[in-house]
Amino acid sequence: MALDSARARDVMMTRARVRSNALSFAFNSGPLLSPALATSAFSAAAPLRVAVVGAGPAGLYAADRLLHRFRDAVRVDVLERLPAPLGLVRYGVAPDHGATSAPVAARFGRLLADERVRLLCNACVADAPSAAPAAALPLPLSALQARYHAVVLATGAQRARTLGVPGEALPGVLTAAAFVSWYTGHPGGSLHAPPPPPQLRAGPHAVVVGAGNVALDCARLLLRPAQPLLAASDAPAAVVAALAASTVRHVTLLVRRSAAQLACTPRELRELLALPGLRLHTDPGLGLAEADEAELRADGPAARARRRCVEELRAALARREAAPPEAADADERSLSFLFLRSPTAFLPGPAGRVGAVQLGAEALEGPPGSRRLARPPPAADPPLPPLPAQLVLISAGAFGAPLEGVPFDSNRGTVPHARGAVLDGSAAIPGLFCVGWLKRGPKGIIGSNLECAEETVAAVAEAAAEGRLPQPPLPPIDPGQLLRDAGGGRLLSAAGWGALDAAERAAGAAKGRPREKAATLAEMLRFADLTA
Ligand code: NAP
Repeated sequence: MALDSARARDVMMTRARVRSNALSFAFNSGPLLSPALATSAFSAAAPLRVAVVGAGPAGLYAADRLLHRFRDAVRVDVLERLPAPLGLVRYGVAPDHGATSAPVAARFGRLLADERVRLLCNACVADAPSAAPAAALPLPLSALQARYHAVVLATGAQRARTLGVPGEALPGVLTAAAFVSWYTGHPGGSLHAPPPPPQLRAGPHAVVVGAGNVALDCARLLLRPAQPLLAASDAPAAVVAALAASTVRHVTLLVRRSAAQLACTPRELRELLALPGLRLHTDPGLGLAEADEAELRADGPAARARRRCVEELRAALARREAAPPEAADADERSLSFLFLRSPTAFLPGPAGRVGAVQLGAEALEGPPGSRRLARPPPAADPPLPPLPAQLVLISAGAFGAPLEGVPFDSNRGTVPHARGAVLDGSAAIPGLFCVGWLKRGPKGIIGSNLECAEETVAAVAEAAAEGRLPQPPLPPIDPGQLLRDAGGGRLLSAAGWGALDAAERAAGAAKGRPREKAATLAEMLRFADLTA
C-alpha cells in the first residue's frame, strides 16, 4: 500500500521538527554540544555508554556486537517497552517453529546475563503515546541522549500494511500481524485485557492475502491439526484450544504476482505443502508467462530461491496427480494458491462479518528481471466470482513507526541512515544510530539482524574513533530515580525478566508444556514479582 498523502504530510512535519531540534542542539548551550570523545577516551573505568532502544533480535544483536567490539570499554542499557525482552523471537516466531527460536532465546539469555549489559523492560522510549503499553514508563529520547554517548534505535516495523480496499473494517478481516500476535500470546497494549481472539468458527473458508513467510506461517497454523505439535509448543493454551476447535478447512493464498515472484522462502513453502493430508489446488500454469519462466532461469541466489519455490509447487502438484483418489472426508484440509489476483473488496456475509472476497485480476509486464504489476490492472472478463471467506488475513508486510524527534522516510517506513548512522538530510545526527527493520525495512530472517548489527556497531565505532560521539552530561539511567521522577510505575531488570520467564515455565510445566505465557501486561508484572 502506498502511504497516503496525510501520512506523507505527517512525515514532512516530523522532519521539520527534527530540523528544528537539530538547530536547537546547535544554538542552545545544551548537553550535546559538549566536546566529542575519541575511542581512546573509553576504557573499563570510563566506558562507552550506549542505550539500545528495543530488546528484539535487532537490538540484542546490536548489544552483542557492541560487547564484541568494545570488550570491557562499553556498558549497554537495553530498553524495552514490554515487560519481557526478545521481540519477534517471543512474539513473532510461530509456535511450531520452536526449534528456530529456542537457540536464539538461549543466546540472548546469556547476553542479558553479562554484567556489561543492563536490561530495562517496561520503559517506552520516543514512541507515539498511543503505542505505549499501558504499564510502560514513558521516557523521551532526549533523556537518553543526555545520558549515553550513543543511542541505537531498534524498534522494528510495528505497523502492519493494510490494503485500503472497501470492507477492510468488517469483522473477520484482520492483519496477519494481529493474528501472529494472537497465536504467540502478545499481551497487547492494555493492562488487563489482551487483544480479542480471532473468530475461527465462522465457517470453513479463510483467505490470506500475500505470499511472504508470515502469510505461510498463518496458513500453516490454520491448516495444521493442533495435536500433537502445537499442544506441545509454547502457544498459549487458549490458542491451542481455539485452533483445535477451528472450523477453517480451506485456505486460499491470494497472490498478486505469479509463482515466479513469491516473497516466501522455499523451505517454508515446502513445510506448508508437506502438511499431512493437505490437498493442494492451483492452476497448474502457476500464473507463469514466458517472461516469468525466463526470469526463473536467471543466475544468482534470488532467482535460485524463486526457482526452488516453483519446483516445490510443481512437485506438490505432481504428488497430488499421482495420489489415488481419496474418499470424501469432511475434515479434509485444502490449500489453494490463486496467482495474479488481488482483493478489490471484502463483502459482508449474512451475520455482518466478512463472507466473501471480491477479486480483481492482475497482470505482470516488463522483461525478465523487471517484471512489475501492470497499472491499471487488466479488467477481468468475464468478472471473477467472489471467493467465499469467513476469515481474511492481510499479510502484506509491515513498516516502521516514526519516533518523535527522529527523521523518518514515510515511503519506506524506515529511518534514513548511512550504514546505521541516522541522517538528517545528508548529515549524521551525532550519537544516533539505527538497526534492524527500522533501518532496512521488514526483510530477512532473525539471523539477518546479526550482519545488520555488525554494520551499525561499526558505524558507532567509527564515530567513536573519529571523536564524533557527544559527551553526555548526565550519568546513565538510574531506575530508582526514574521511577521517583515519574511518580511510580515499574521497570523490570534482567532479574525481573528471569522471574517472569521462570514463572511462565513453571505454569507450562504444570500442564506438561514448555511454557504458558502470561496473558496480559498485568499478569507479566505479577509473574515477575513471584520470585524477583
Ligand atoms: P514480505 O516477505 O515482504 O511479504 C509481503 C507479501 O505481501 C508479499 O507477497 C507482497 O507481494 C504482498 N503484498 C504487499 N502489498 C500488497 C498488496 N497491496 N496487495 C496484495 N499483496 C501485497 O513480508 P512478511 O511476510 O510480513 O515477512 C517479513 C519478513 O519476515 C520477511 O523477510 C520474511 O521472510 C521474514 N519472516 C521469516 C520467517 C521464517 O524464516 N520462517 C517467518 C516469518 C517472517 P509482492 O511480492 O507482490 O509485493
